[in-house]
Amino acid sequence: MAVPGLDTAAGFLARHYGLTGDLTELAGENTNYRLFMPGGRRFVLKFAATHDAASVDREFQLIERAHAAGLGIGLPRFVTTITGHATAALTSESGSARGRLLEYVPGTTWGETGLRSRGLFRDLGRVLGGLDRALSAVPADGPLRTHAWDLTRAGQHRGKIRFVSDRHQRQLLEWTFLQHAGVVPLLDALPHSFIHGDANDENLLIEGGRVSGLIDFGDALWNPTVSELAVALAYAMLDEPDPLASGAEVVAGYHAERPLSLDELRVLTPLVLGRLSVTVATAAHRRTIDPTRAAWFVTEDRAWRLIEMLRATDPAGMAARLAAGTGLDPAAGRGASVASLLERRRRSIGPSLSIAYQDPLKIVRGRGQFLFDDGGRAFLDLVNNVCHVGHCHPRVVAAAAAQLATLNTNTRYLHDNLVEYAERLAATLPDPLEVCFFVNSGTEANELALRLAMAHTGRRDVLVVDGAYHGHTAHLIAASPYKFMGPGGSGAAEPWVRVVPAPDGYRGRHRGHDRETGVAYGDAIRDAIAASGRPVAAFLTESLLSCAGQIVPPPGYLETAFRHARAAGAVTIVDEVQVGFGRVGTDFWGFETQGVVPDIVVMGKPIGNGHPMGAVVTTREIAESFANGMEFFSTFGGNPVSCAVGLAVLDVIRDEGLQAHALEVGARFRDGLTELMSRHAIVGDVRGAGLFIGVELVGDRQTREPATREADELVNRLRHRGLLLSTDGPYHNVLKIKPPMVITAEDADMVVRVLDEELGGLRRAG
Ligand code: PMP
Repeated sequence: MAVPGLDTAAGFLARHYGLTGDLTELAGENTNYRLFMPGGRRFVLKFAATHDAASVDREFQLIERAHAAGLGIGLPRFVTTITGHATAALTSESGSARGRLLEYVPGTTWGETGLRSRGLFRDLGRVLGGLDRALSAVPADGPLRTHAWDLTRAGQHRGKIRFVSDRHQRQLLEWTFLQHAGVVPLLDALPHSFIHGDANDENLLIEGGRVSGLIDFGDALWNPTVSELAVALAYAMLDEPDPLASGAEVVAGYHAERPLSLDELRVLTPLVLGRLSVTVATAAHRRTIDPTRAAWFVTEDRAWRLIEMLRATDPAGMAARLAAGTGLDPAAGRGASVASLLERRRRSIGPSLSIAYQDPLKIVRGRGQFLFDDGGRAFLDLVNNVCHVGHCHPRVVAAAAAQLATLNTNTRYLHDNLVEYAERLAATLPDPLEVCFFVNSGTEANELALRLAMAHTGRRDVLVVDGAYHGHTAHLIAASPYKFMGPGGSGAAEPWVRVVPAPDGYRGRHRGHDRETGVAYGDAIRDAIAASGRPVAAFLTESLLSCAGQIVPPPGYLETAFRHARAAGAVTIVDEVQVGFGRVGTDFWGFETQGVVPDIVVMGKPIGNGHPMGAVVTTREIAESFANGMEFFSTFGGNPVSCAVGLAVLDVIRDEGLQAHALEVGARFRDGLTELMSRHAIVGDVRGAGLFIGVELVGDRQTREPATREADELVNRLRHRGLLLSTDGPYHNVLKIKPPMVITAEDADMVVRVLDEELGGLRRAG
């Protein structure tokens, strides 16, 4: 909006309000004017962009509501125009705007008094609790606005971290923004209302040690109601020697007027951190625009000091201290300590199961793309492709809970869920893939797929790809070079298993990403069959290779491989356990990126968003070969609860547009990672499709010597920066990125920024 000059503003006042007097500009975020009338009456004149007219009407409505609630404090009041309207249009050479005149609320601002006392803090909470109770009566009809200080969208400022010159401060800010981002998926479920949204030290008036007034409803907006308290805390705790003790007074006062829920208390600290983050990130950005504009920087240093102090306590501890006066304990349910759990786990769980990270994590909660540890710290999950549509997605949880409370039985009764799910799943696949079998894991699905192939061909031998993992049963360990060639493995393939090279265009025997390379790798299937001289039942492969090192096969690979396999009478099985369900972005299934149709498709992991499920889909012909009289039955496979979950997952992928999202965010993510190659020689290759990404670290780009130790160090460093990922590939030097599909562009940008820093800080292998 173009800011009208003093003369224009004076003309506007005279024309619409019949007022003339001493008009001056007020300092602050927005351009406002103060009007002194002879005789002592004072007013504030404000303008808003015409497109924001609805917000001005809303401001009027909210102020009227607050007056009606009798809060016992001074509040602004709209002065009506000569024609009896709350606002008037301004049209000048510099554009049009909507103006409004408010009665000046006398008093001293909190900032001017500098007063800090327990009584005042409690009173502040009380006033805001009363206000929010009053405003909750205003329904959310009509357009709802957002603006730069909207606390639910603090993440939009994350990119400004780059304007912060101090490295330590940048790291701190990545962490605070991450804590905020972690609770965003939780906010929708909290009570919402209009809030004042800016109870800061310039908008609160103080008299006699109490709050005497609240001004400037210009930033009011629809938000989780608890945002009101979070904003107030971000100011109340500034400069306090024990900020959490002072904050607890505000919370107690608020709670007495508008009781807070445990869920609200849990998000409070991350929201406070979010507000402080926006303050300092905005200031850093604004300094690049005009470093002399003092009003932009009044809170900056104080906010930094507060962020530093708060960093010393974990979020759950902060929440507990802030809630001290409410009688609620948001940190309850932490359970046993990490040390004691580790000790007990060692005694009760088989030692062949490893634990991630040198400094193990105790994860107690998950939502969206975030996991939370026992200290309430948010971690961005970059590796759990199981929780495909986001951890604990409310629609999936609700579908499971509703069906679990209704019926859970086996597939020998008729049930709508089973048939509906089978139809829906088959509809995602090309013809002739149409017949489904349901089991409980990826392993079981691969086992069944091999049985189908053996029944159909009457043969037993299987071709598998080097580096592949397909499951943990005796049969599948033998078909998983990742295991039998790895630690503790036999070191050699059993006679019925033949290993073909991984189609790795970066470090494999054929290099490149063109069709010629794909065909060369595909021809290896022909050669392997010829070399053994034994009939082959199946060629089993992932469509994009995960354990083998996040490999995207070159074009033409599967087409060639399938042609040779089929020519030799084998069936083709594609394991989509890792990459299926839209992850690759361009297609719903990984094999579609290669333009082929397999005979059998194996599904797992994302299929149930964490609920144990697996499925095999094949052709009618193969399914009929399998029906030789021996019944196939899985007690839990395809039960009504699993099918309800599976249906909900398909619904969410469709309704939230997650495949297109994976394509868009994945491309941006890879672009950012690829850009890192220009600064970090250790990044040898960045590859992937959609949200299935690999970053290969090498000691030397020429020799491609794997930087295994550095990759491990990096993963551990990132864990301390709040990013969870792991390594894979035969040398464990490939960063494996396959996050829940709801990860945002802001998250991806953050990962790139943090990686940029941490790659720079890696110690070189000695
Ligand atoms: N296939 C692939 C490609 C896998 O990555 C895995 C598990 N990592 C499996 C099959 C086995 O699945 P599950 O652990 O559910 O048995």
